[in-house]
Amino acid sequence: MLNGAIKKLSGSLKTQILDGYDGAAIKRAIAILRAGGLVAFPTETVYGLGADGLNPNAVAGIYEAKGRPPTNPLILHVADMEAARPLVAHWPDVALKLTEKFWPGPLTIILPASSLVPDIVRAGNPTIALRSPNHPVALELLRAFNGPLAAPSANKTTQTSPTKPEHVLSGMGGHIDLILDGGRTTSGIESTIINLAETPPRLLRPGPICPMEIEAITGNISRFEGAVSARGLQAAPGMTQRHYAPKARLTVHLQDELIDVQREIQQISGERVILVVLGDGLKLPCASDYRRLPDDPKGASARLYATLHDLDSEGYQRILFQAPPKTDEWLAIRDRLARAASKD
Ligand code: AMP
Ligand code: MG
Repeated sequence: MLNGAIKKLSGSLKTQILDGYDGAAIKRAIAILRAGGLVAFPTETVYGLGADGLNPNAVAGIYEAKGRPPTNPLILHVADMEAARPLVAHWPDVALKLTEKFWPGPLTIILPASSLVPDIVRAGNPTIALRSPNHPVALELLRAFNGPLAAPSANKTTQTSPTKPEHVLSGMGGHIDLILDGGRTTSGIESTIINLAETPPRLLRPGPICPMEIEAITGNISRFEGAVSARGLQAAPGMTQRHYAPKARLTVHLQDELIDVQREIQQISGERVILVVLGDGLKLPCASDYRRLPDDPKGASARLYATLHDLDSEGYQRILFQAPPKTDEWLAIRDRLARAASKD
């Protein structure tokens, strides 16, 4: 069981699922992590794939298990500010204010790394990304481990992030030692990432905490303009990586076009097509195959990935998604949809 680092490539590990609220499960997780193995655990955003963040061999295991390019740095997860302090070379005032307001929570900050942080975690960058997750199981695990855990989402690179233990098992089963079950995640999309190592700070990934909430503390930040264009969802250069993507082909359409496009595809290709609509603004013909997400951004985020996982397991070949409004509150969802729709 503790030889994950050796066996993970073969996909032959027996992946256990244990109740994350059980003290014995946390002990087991700690033993695996100390031995350099991998443990998936719940956070409020998505399930993370954790390894000892100060052990380069353990961190290498994350890259292998996910098939993640070594150029893509990881986020170190910490129990609190005290645990974060030694990982950073210099703490600007603004970082202290942001962590005070948003930690534990879905905000990742990037700062100059201290010499404690192994190169592999940072993918060679001089900076480190840090976050304290707001989930009782994650916090209990971090406190018991008494050190930082490197933890990207617990899925193969480019696939949809897991929001339930079953998602982790179907994507990573056989490649990791243990999944701590903490039920379904609440936020449902990955953390907001802000780079505080540049001035003004720059939003690198939109997420559950929206730019205005950050600007209330930091003043102006450079906005993320990446994947979202004037029309709504064209991917822009540099931000086009296919990511967070379901197996079905996903495209985004204005509400008024959805029904016509669905009918057209069915007539021409015979593919199984499903609509994902936001709220109840669209009158759907009785024969329409559809799922409805809430028309508020928090509610839609919470269910976005679970819906994509469900549609994949139900065998749909095409997903036609209603374009969300172009407001700041929907920025993170527009970003994830643009990446899911990208063919790169
Ligand atoms: P995830 O794959 O959800 O764990 O997110 C990690 C993401 O954080 C990476 O893909 C990068 O975009 C970003 N990131 C982490 N560390 C750094 C860093 N030192 N500099 C810039 N971006 C970073
Ligand atoms: Mg990920």
